[in-house]
Amino acid sequence: MERVSLINRIKSAGIVGCGGAGFPTHVKVNTKAEIVIGNGAECEPLLRVDQQMMEKYSEKIVKGLEYVMSITGAKKGYIALKGKYKEAIKNLQIAIRNSSFTIEIFILGDYYPAGDEQDIVYEVTGRIVPEGGIPIMVGCVVDNVTTLYMIADAVIYNRNFISRPVTIGGAVKDPKTVWVRIGTSFKELIEYAGGVTEPDYVVIDGGPMMGNIVDENSVVKKTTSGILVLPRDLRFIQKKLRSDRVEVRNGKSTCDQCFECTITCYRNLLGHNLYPHKIMRTLFLEPESYSEESLLTMSFLCSQCGLCDLYSCPMDLSPRKVFRFIRQKLMEKGIKNPHKRSDLKVHPERDFRRVSIKRLIERLGIKKYDRPAPFVEEEYIPEKVRIPLNQHIGAHAVPKVKEGDSVKEGDLIAASPEEKLGANIHASISGRVTEVKDEYIEITGV
Ligand code: SF4
Ligand code: SF4
Repeated sequence: MERVSLINRIKSAGIVGCGGAGFPTHVKVNTKAEIVIGNGAECEPLLRVDQQMMEKYSEKIVKGLEYVMSITGAKKGYIALKGKYKEAIKNLQIAIRNSSFTIEIFILGDYYPAGDEQDIVYEVTGRIVPEGGIPIMVGCVVDNVTTLYMIADAVIYNRNFISRPVTIGGAVKDPKTVWVRIGTSFKELIEYAGGVTEPDYVVIDGGPMMGNIVDENSVVKKTTSGILVLPRDLRFIQKKLRSDRVEVRNGKSTCDQCFECTITCYRNLLGHNLYPHKIMRTLFLEPESYSEESLLTMSFLCSQCGLCDLYSCPMDLSPRKVFRFIRQKLMEKGIKNPHKRSDLKVHPERDFRRVSIKRLIERLGIKKYDRPAPFVEEEYIPEKVRIPLNQHIGAHAVPKVKEGDSVKEGDLIAASPEEKLGANIHASISGRVTEVKDEYIEITGV
């Protein structure tokens, strides 16, 4: 298939990044690149999707990588994953041997956040993405391995993005990873995993570090890689439940300038002008006095990885939430990120300061939930789905159906608005459209 046809197929299938951000893939790959990296790091504790996808579907993932290399003209491709994913490495090696493209496996250390785009680009290529920049600025495109699978599925089988693999884990009786239709309720899936084993719990959409605590009536989106049930009384859960405003107040009164947040900040270790402790030091300033010259603008360089928040700070503060709050206030004043340096040097102690997953799991207090969540062969198909229209970066998709319409699995039900960043959305089950709202379309199976 030609370049334009490949991009159009990816666009019409509604593919967005499966790793969490949900950036529309047809826009990301529509560029010229030297290197494409398949991101199989899966560094969030307790998630078991990408590692098993690479094990089970190595050929398709390599195929997806080949398509992105063809589109971008990249001469070199990598699949970067952790050395502990032994079966995946073995299967990928076989798939790569059968490929005519120049593809290599790159072994990452077992640390957090090895899957961050900027960190992975440095690890694999030695290139440092400029402050506030994206990988293509150093000639790289990074795609999550499940996204690569979706690309291959769309191109080879003409399938649209209507289901995805999800790990249902944590405090559930029978943790598992399963293909789930988009729009399936979390509550239903938690029951499918044997139900909850703790009396008082919360539900997280994604991993413990970057995932959000959500209502259990939430539904699976294209970006949902995990549904984690965890006890409410875990210290880090209590912290996640606190508001940004409360964290700002606590930061003003309690930060002792110990520097721990800066020591482990991986963006600081990559040479970025991000010194979390210095931002905390200027918290006494009121939002009215925020300016483009202030140290507070370093907040724009924070990726919200959560290390300073859930791992480093001995005073139980949350620089991450504080920076989110500051960034919001700066943007409300029309102040944009002034940090754009590209002459960066990694910190000489980077290798020693990185945070191992083992230590992270201990600190979060979730060791007892660090269990296998094996792939279930059959797909989970619910009787009803509620498909969100805003499950990606960009504009809401515009409904193309009305209540009472009959739809077949895979039909287009909402389209990306013309000339805007967005993604198409398709019916994830066959049935009747029972509700069309600004936020979602509900389909009841027949
Ligand atoms: S959340 Fe904290 S550790 Fe992570 S990038 Fe932001 S400041 Fe650095
Ligand atoms: S780790 Fe906590 S107490 Fe120490 S400087 Fe950072 S925010 Fe302040």
